[in-house]
Amino acid sequence: MDFRYLGNSGMQISEITYGNWLTHGSQVENDIATQCVRAALESGITTFDTADVYANGRAEEVLGAALKGERRESLEIFTKVYWPVGPDPKGKNDTGLSRKHVMEGIDGSLRRLQMDHVDLYQAHRYDNFTPLEEIMQAFADVVRAGKALYIGVSEWTAEQIRAGHALAQELGIGLVSSQPQYSMLWRIIEREVVPTCRELGIGQIVWSPIAQGVLSGKYKPGQELPAGSRATDEKGGADMIKRWLADDVLTRVQELQPIAGDLGLTMAQLAVAWVLQNDNVSAALVGASRPEQVAENVKAAGVKIPDDAMKRIDEALGDVVTDDPGMVARSVPTQRAV
Ligand code: NDP
Repeated sequence: MDFRYLGNSGMQISEITYGNWLTHGSQVENDIATQCVRAALESGITTFDTADVYANGRAEEVLGAALKGERRESLEIFTKVYWPVGPDPKGKNDTGLSRKHVMEGIDGSLRRLQMDHVDLYQAHRYDNFTPLEEIMQAFADVVRAGKALYIGVSEWTAEQIRAGHALAQELGIGLVSSQPQYSMLWRIIEREVVPTCRELGIGQIVWSPIAQGVLSGKYKPGQELPAGSRATDEKGGADMIKRWLADDVLTRVQELQPIAGDLGLTMAQLAVAWVLQNDNVSAALVGASRPEQVAENVKAAGVKIPDDAMKRIDEALGDVVTDDPGMVARSVPTQRAV
């Protein structure tokens, strides 16, 4: 495993970080999720990303239990707050980044993880209804209370990151990371977020580097979706992966196979190695539905993709690449519900 600094902080993290978004719920799923965490540790991964909302709190519980007994100082644990967690119906203050939700959110996460602090606490989305001053003050207070060591954001625009970082710096904390989607197919951070973050010393921890499995090449144009894959998992990611399952995208993706082959890589390894070529990326955040995938994908660590292969990748994918910053995740409400 190779390690990188998280932005310009002094903390090093494994450049391949394991994320446990899906694969929780039933006992069987939780057992597999635990095996994936063990496989990650065995592969040299020391950094783990989760969120309070994943599987409505179960993902944090399973991660905490799987890491029990490990030396805490040798691990970097990341979690996030924004979305509602807990029993239905959710309370009116169970969402967003109000001081109330952030302060209660960190306590819930630490309880589920069975830890006394996380290394990185992230705002899972931007909150259009809480003053940015209140948000950053709450995150700074979480740090001052020793419940998190660093703070970061996820899917914030360049402008939001700049404003948040300025306030956080006034509070003596500063943002160290941004967690956006980034892959060969989804490159929108390159135009605004990455240049801004480079200037501010903020690193990217990028999610879905394999485009949720599509860049592994297992989805073939004109063919049935493979059984047991995310695309067939209605309660998991099937909805989010749909965007990539059009025949024109899948046909282009198949053209990456010979490029990966020439480099002695599987397509999934090529996809993970590709995001790591960007020097503003602190880590590629990979998911897995079985431990063998972790063992395969981790071999992308330290791989250098030659310039001519990077060019071949761009030519192969052509116009199925999305790079318009206007496409940034707009899943948060922009109008008050009440
Ligand atoms: P990936 O792009 O790494 O997709 C992982 C999925 O791809 C696996 O679950 C598996 O699905 C498939 N896969 C992985 N490796 C292989 C392989 N070698 N061969 C074939 N199929 C493979 O990332 P995720 O979408 O899982 O996201 C990773 C992490 O990023 C999350 O766990 C979470 O921590 C974070 N995240 C953050 C978000 C945010 O808003 N901040 C949003 C989404 C994710 P299967 O076998 O089921 O087909």
